[in-house]
Amino acid sequence: MQNEIKNILKEYDLRNTSCREEILDLFLQRNFALSHADIESTIHEDFDRVTVYRTLKTFLDKGLIHKVLDDEGVTKYALCKEKCSHTEHHHEHVHFKCMTCGLTNCLDSVLIPSISLPAGYSLSETSLLVQGTCQDCNQKRK
Ligand SMILES: [Zn+2]
Ligand SMILES: [Zn+2]
Ligand SMILES: [Zn+2]
Repeated sequence: MQNEIKNILKEYDLRNTSCREEILDLFLQRNFALSHADIESTIHEDFDRVTVYRTLKTFLDKGLIHKVLDDEGVTKYALCKEKCSHTEHHHEHVHFKCMTCGLTNCLDSVLIPSISLPAGYSLSETSLLVQGTCQDCNQKRK
């Protein structure tokens, strides 16, 4: 695990810092999107808010994680599975929020339908949040 983290940081041209390692480790362990508050309350060491914020921003800029817009205006983050570059993110997948467990995850195989805008508008980003009950919660119900 430690090696995997070091390799990923290296691949993305990022210097190793304990905060980066710790946060990346967290993203690799979880298969759902994390908010700033989730990260802060989960990491072991006491990194201040600014350090966590900067680390997330660096990961975003490098194409390692992407933003997941949740309901209630909370921004969450998830690992990029597609090849995102330093300059551009390529995400056309749907995000799913479970109303039972509250977790949001990437539905990488479900693509956002293409949107055609009226004349005079130009598109830079689309995001789609679908809400319902996730696989795990549906299974528990049975
Ligand atoms: Zn991305
Ligand atoms: Zn659920
Ligand atoms: Zn996603």
